[in-house]
Amino acid sequence: MSSSQAPTTAIIGAGLSGLCLALALHQQSLPCIVYESRAAPLNIGGAVMLSPNALRVLDALGIYSTIKRQGYNFEILHFRTLAGELTETYEFGSEAKYGYPGLRIYRHVLIDALLAALRDRRVPVEYGRKFSHVIAEADDGVTFAFTDGSTASADLLVGADGIHSTVRKYLYPNLETRFLGMAGITAAVPTAQLKLPADFHIPVTFVSPEHGAFVIAPQEPDGSEVLIGRQKHLPKDLDRQGLAVLTADKDSHIAFLRQGIDAFPDIVRNAVSSIPTDKMNVWPFYVVPRLERWASERRRIVILGDAAHAIPPSAGQGINQAFEDVYMFALLLKAGGSVDQKEALGFWQGYRQDRLNRILKLNEQIDLRRMPVKPGAEKVEREPFELGWLYEPDFKGVVDSWVNKTVKK
Ligand SMILES: Cc1cc2nc3c(=O)[nH]c(=O)nc-3n(C[C@H](O)[C@H](O)[C@H](O)COP(=O)(O)OP(=O)(O)OC[C@H]3O[C@@H](n4cnc5c(N)ncnc54)[C@H](O)[C@@H]3O)c2cc1C
Repeated sequence: MSSSQAPTTAIIGAGLSGLCLALALHQQSLPCIVYESRAAPLNIGGAVMLSPNALRVLDALGIYSTIKRQGYNFEILHFRTLAGELTETYEFGSEAKYGYPGLRIYRHVLIDALLAALRDRRVPVEYGRKFSHVIAEADDGVTFAFTDGSTASADLLVGADGIHSTVRKYLYPNLETRFLGMAGITAAVPTAQLKLPADFHIPVTFVSPEHGAFVIAPQEPDGSEVLIGRQKHLPKDLDRQGLAVLTADKDSHIAFLRQGIDAFPDIVRNAVSSIPTDKMNVWPFYVVPRLERWASERRRIVILGDAAHAIPPSAGQGINQAFEDVYMFALLLKAGGSVDQKEALGFWQGYRQDRLNRILKLNEQIDLRRMPVKPGAEKVEREPFELGWLYEPDFKGVVDSWVNKTVKK
């Protein structure tokens, strides 16, 4: 990367990774532009849960104080048996321990907050620009094409274009994402419909060894609405078209949410008594197999977020991990010519992959509690939750210390 002049980064995708990266680069005084294929900001519906590791990043980028008030703040998830017995708790955040409670926030609210911050800072985000392919990569930059035939150039091209990334094809032309044969089926209902007993704590997951788990999670700043959801097994060979057909079949989702419901407590039966179809979501669990490298040989093309490492969603860390990616990436990019770029990218990916590996283990632990036991499945030992490593990292400290150790003489 040229050290005399700040390099321009072209970001493909104005999803949460792409927009957050733009904000992080701007903070480092690194110019960038975001290209998004859709005509307008994406609203796939549904809320996401943000944990302290990601909220610390959003705080450093100056938008936490805005979004904190726009979502539901909470700390603990409860796991209960069908008889209502509290079996375990899971910390999604803690102001006292980690500096931040968890935040459940509508995705479009978060996207709007990121876009407003970028507008304030005059960072360009262009809609209706669908990336097609790389035309040429040289040691000092990259030229690429959009599907409408137009072209653009940048010092660096970043694919933040999600799990089915087109930018990734440049690095891995034949890579297939893997469908795990599972989907989250969710809906949103008014909290009042649940008729919660006084002082009953939500979010809660009711676990049935026979029927799997039923999740209830408040959303909207006042908790007036809850997400309800269950995980469904599907054929692993279902292709994307098959999934699209399944997604459109809302009656089957309602039937699934109500399956075996007599075994569940009143709260759950109330929750599914009336299910509006307009806030229903199907979340197919795809993963990107572990990739050897997230950057091209010449290091002018990089992928991050879901494009680089979409992981199963059990621990709710997909977007949280993407925010970690982009923040560290921007800090390393700022180090520019003072460090070897190959080493910097290697350090970044290595550090990020180590954390992802630990999250995969955490996912296993959560699945163990949530999913019905499958005959013949490999036995996973149950371990208590310990989450300090996940919520407490000091990304800036980690990068600064690496840069100080590595800086070119
Ligand atoms: C229903 C649902 C619920 C979820 N809940 C949670 C949660 O609670 N917590 C959590 O951490 N994660 C959650 N996730 C996962 C999380 O949404 C993803 O990890 C996250 O969205 C990844 O962000 P991204 O920006 O990398 O990709 P995406 O969000 O997929 O964004 C990619 C962007 O790139 C654009 N794009 C794609 N191709 C092109 C192209 N060729 N040219 C230009 N633009 C392009 C897309 O239109 C999109 O805007 C959930 C996912 C789903 C589906």
